Amino acid sequence: MAEPTRILLDESEMPTRWYNIVGDLPEPPPPVLHPGTHEPVGPDDLAPLFPMALIAQEVSTERYIDIPGEILDIYRLWRPSPLYRARRLERALGTPARIYYKYEGVSPAGSHKPNTAVPQAYYNAAEGVRRLTTETGAGQWGSALAFACSQFGLDCEVWQVAASYLHKPYRKSLMEVWGATVHSSPSELTGAGRAILAEHPDSPGSLGIAISEAVEVAASDPGTRYALGSVLNHVLLHQTVIGEEALAQLAKVGDTPDVIVGCTGGGSNFAGLSFPFLREKLAGRLAPTIRCVEPAACPSLTMGEYRYDFGDTAGMTPLIKMHTLGHDFVPEPIHAGGLRYHGMSPLLSHILELGLVEAEAIAQVECFEAGVLFARTEGIVPAPEPPHPIAAAIREAKRCTETGEQKVILTAMCGHGHFDMGAYDAFFRGELVDLDYPKQEVRDAMARVPVVAG
Ligand SMILES: *Cc1c(COP(=O)(O)O)cnc(C)c1O
Repeated sequence: MAEPTRILLDESEMPTRWYNIVGDLPEPPPPVLHPGTHEPVGPDDLAPLFPMALIAQEVSTERYIDIPGEILDIYRLWRPSPLYRARRLERALGTPARIYYKYEGVSPAGSHKPNTAVPQAYYNAAEGVRRLTTETGAGQWGSALAFACSQFGLDCEVWQVAASYLHKPYRKSLMEVWGATVHSSPSELTGAGRAILAEHPDSPGSLGIAISEAVEVAASDPGTRYALGSVLNHVLLHQTVIGEEALAQLAKVGDTPDVIVGCTGGGSNFAGLSFPFLREKLAGRLAPTIRCVEPAACPSLTMGEYRYDFGDTAGMTPLIKMHTLGHDFVPEPIHAGGLRYHGMSPLLSHILELGLVEAEAIAQVECFEAGVLFARTEGIVPAPEPPHPIAAAIREAKRCTETGEQKVILTAMCGHGHFDMGAYDAFFRGELVDLDYPKQEVRDAMARVPVVAG
């Protein structure tokens, strides 16, 4: 029988537990600190923002957490997602490497984000919350949460980064179809937004600013909680269904990965794909190289310092130890909006420090070239974020062409680009250029990061 191109699992093979890598690490990640006292935060500090079930997952050291049946029922709308063998891309590259991609664009919102939006809406609804607030960069998280809230009858209010609000009007429409209310950020609706606008009336916004606005509104209303689409441990946990499925799918075709690459904005799709493989690596059963790929214009893992910083721009969140470019650093409005974040998941930052994964930065022109080649061979038009690991996979595959190695490369194709055609237009018009690493801006922002002992 010919080897399959699309490797599928039955509904009955869908994972029923999330994998928590914290239980398998040689050292636990550093604690999250209270911004005032610099003491570790307790559940009560987080209760105004998150439901108790998610706070428990955030600090859990259990290796596996069962997925509630109501969440599995919604996951079944698109899961298990397909794993593809990229035969046409391989042929175009003339490579002996075998390239696989796990495709999360089959979800209703078109990315991996509903994997965590659905459980977040579920646990909030179960604890009597009526409204969720959030930020969105490229619009993918906002639309995922809007979809999830619609499944549980929750109100959803989204602060969308101004640059993307302007350039991606259909992401806003999509959120509104699912019943959400969308504001351009910075907005006049919050103290954090007004403070930015007073200084920078034309601010393109940033994820950090939008987080400040959504957190401020949630913290001031007892019936409202906040939802974050990346960075936090419970978000990475929910995404591990991706890697668990991919492990089972590769086993079906008898392949094991030599290299795993994924893009890192806050780290969630990367962690989702790679952590189950890292578990296998820690247990000595597999030995893949696992590599984060980030934009050269916002390179928190490769250029940022590993230290305590705020998750938002206004400095309202707890202090988290992570690779950061400085909480008030505003990255250039590159087209991969989902990768424009000053920080990184603290769990993934810790894992990079432990030397269990590596990181590389790639500039946007090479990424768009890779995205277009992918669309013209595999057919799927990638969102502007996954071309980063696609470019990294192509680099690997070309090395294999030279050396004759038959490496197995696995990548996360975390979303489609149907709402991102403006970015492709800009690329074809030649307007999309490689931006220099903003050394001085990062140095200035780092000077404003709080000093924390230890
Ligand atoms: C949100 C998003 C990202 C970046 O977030 P991670 O938490 O790093 O995954 C990347 N790609 C797509 C398609 C996204 O929607």
